[in-house]
Amino acid sequence: MTDNPSNDQLTFQDPVTRFPDITPPKQDQPEPGLDQELVPQTDRGQHSYRGTGRLEGRKALITGADSGIGAAVAIAFAREGADVALSYLPAEEEDAQEIKSFIEGSGRRAILLPGDISDRDFCEELVERAVRELGGLDALVNNAGRQIAVEDIADLPDEQWTATFDTNIHAIYRISRAAVKHMPPGSTIVNTTSIQAYKPSPHLLDYASTKAAINNFTKGLGQMLASKGIRVNAVAPGPIWTPLQVSDGQPKDALPKFGKSTPLGRAGQPTELAPAFVFLTSPESSYVIGETLNVNGGTPSP
Ligand code: NAD
Ligand code: MG
Repeated sequence: MTDNPSNDQLTFQDPVTRFPDITPPKQDQPEPGLDQELVPQTDRGQHSYRGTGRLEGRKALITGADSGIGAAVAIAFAREGADVALSYLPAEEEDAQEIKSFIEGSGRRAILLPGDISDRDFCEELVERAVRELGGLDALVNNAGRQIAVEDIADLPDEQWTATFDTNIHAIYRISRAAVKHMPPGSTIVNTTSIQAYKPSPHLLDYASTKAAINNFTKGLGQMLASKGIRVNAVAPGPIWTPLQVSDGQPKDALPKFGKSTPLGRAGQPTELAPAFVFLTSPESSYVIGETLNVNGGTPSP
């Protein structure tokens, strides 16, 4: 549907019509969901993202890199000249293999590191393996997240609350702590937060709380690491069509109208997020620290 090679991020065009206004059918996938089974399919830039040499020689670890926004970022980083280590859950091997082939097709290395980042020991192991296999580390993208919609607090179990915090924010703290030890000056960390940090939906109580925490963590860590030459920033997506939404991320009735209430009038595609991550990782943003770049189709945000 959106596999149009001339639809690259640098061609002058109308943002309203760059991608179609999708009306996804109601559908369900078990968590964590696969891009390969999503209807309609997404644009992760696999056929369109055009590199301009902005991350030449960089060594990046990206979590949640098998699908959705993380996959789009992994493809963009490779096209910009970086080698990429991809973190994802073992159940997502199929999606990860596909992204690996796109990265290798761009002439860069892809290191596959499956495992569960809600496990505190794995966070440390993930970073050590990425450093070993990439031969160092100078870019980290903390993008993995889980989102399970629950309509009533009475039905929100302790286990879900804890699992969401373990995956979405505790892992960012643990992975960042392990990574910083290896990072030379000039390195960057970019965290994926959400518009939910400012405009929480009542059915995403646990998820939205973690996203507000990620924004705050980004501003604190950004100040802490600035003098070491390591910059920390965040990207806050609005409604982006990814497997997160169909694996209980949204109430099923909400799927057909997903993203239509934004000022742009349509859901975003994962590849539309990639330039924000590239900018915050590339040296061109050298004076940008603790910032959250909103990529949300026009909804006002702080
Ligand atoms: P996605 O499902 O494609 O990506 C999320 C990824 O998180 C999964 O692919 C999975 O690999 C990873 N993950 C989840 N639990 C994990 C665990 N325990 N261990 C290791 N990896 C784990 O969906 P996406 O929408 O691309 O999500 C990427 C990020 O964007 C998330 O942080 C999400 O909160 C954020 N976000 C998404 C939207 C949106 O509308 N899609 C909006 C705002 C923020
Ligand atoms: Mg996935």
